[in-house]
Amino acid sequence: MSDVERVTTVAGIATLKRSGRRTLAISVLPDGNLELVAPMNASLASILERVAKRAAWINTQRRAFRAMNEVRPVLRYVNGATHRYLGRQYRLKLINDASQSVTLRGAYLHVSVSSGGEEEVKAALARWYRRQAHAQFERRLGRWVEWCRHRKLPHPNLRLRMMPRRWGSTQQDGTICLNPELIRAPSVCVDYVIVHEICHLKYPDHGPKFRGLLQQLCPEWKVIKARLENGDFA
Ligand SMILES: [Zn+2]
Repeated sequence: MSDVERVTTVAGIATLKRSGRRTLAISVLPDGNLELVAPMNASLASILERVAKRAAWINTQRRAFRAMNEVRPVLRYVNGATHRYLGRQYRLKLINDASQSVTLRGAYLHVSVSSGGEEEVKAALARWYRRQAHAQFERRLGRWVEWCRHRKLPHPNLRLRMMPRRWGSTQQDGTICLNPELIRAPSVCVDYVIVHEICHLKYPDHGPKFRGLLQQLCPEWKVIKARLENGDFA
């Protein structure tokens, strides 16, 4: 995929990327920004015309995201604040020692910090989440190694990558990038994202063959995907 351009549309400024796809993809992101992915040779005029035709749909999407964002709680890093891990809610329990360790105990996440300031708690938790994400994703991805080998697909290699609006992405050399934030979602959602990315090792786009394989490997994927999209795993 090439560089990102910024273009002015009837629906405001949008980012425009070019790719090997054959049709224009218009996406409204959760923050309301507009993202366009266009075929390499599509003219700017034709792109803007398509966007103008979808203006009403774009507005509806933006309204839906605004409504969703209003109910989303802001994460706090104080005693008693709730945080999710693999879909379950845990309460923070701050413990005064300098080890900066985090441990799961029953319904609590024990966070050992010296100051107890929100920044210190946040940093300790972020490190813990990242370590858990790595271990969990590695283990779950490991279930597909043999499957890939049998089909002469590249060996899947995990990379954690913060992506503001995506759970995963896959490169044809077998690199599978997963968003560490996904560790907050239920484990069925984690497994779904992994299967989705594994399917991309065989089919890079989201065409009928891709969907057929996904359906075969994860028959309930539509329900899980909806759960992932609607859920609030913060
Ligand atoms: Zn995909």
